Amino acid sequence: MTALRGSRCDACAVTLYPAGDACPRCGRETAPVTLSTAGELWTWTVQRFPPKSPPYVAPPEGFTPFAVGYVELPEGVRVAAVLDTDLASIRIGMPVLVEAGAGVPRARSAE
Ligand SMILES: [Zn+2]
Repeated sequence: MTALRGSRCDACAVTLYPAGDACPRCGRETAPVTLSTAGELWTWTVQRFPPKSPPYVAPPEGFTPFAVGYVELPEGVRVAAVLDTDLASIRIGMPVLVEAGAGVPRARSAE
């Protein structure tokens, strides 16, 4: 499992994802940080038509609807991720594991 890399301002404890060089609150330089992989699903929806291409690249077997959501991590940052989970089982607040994927973070149920 490849944890996401973000950045953090030690002066005001703000964590960023994607990583940024400067803190959006105080402007100080941030330091790289490895984010937690375990979080909670904050909200989600289903992408029912192919996103604009580029940048979207359809898989070889063609487009199928997929879920996307925001995963809230203990660091206080919300990460947009594709949800590799059965659509019928998805619910807000469910525990998920999130990791770096090809292009976008991927999350799956931790239950
Ligand atoms: Zn700061």
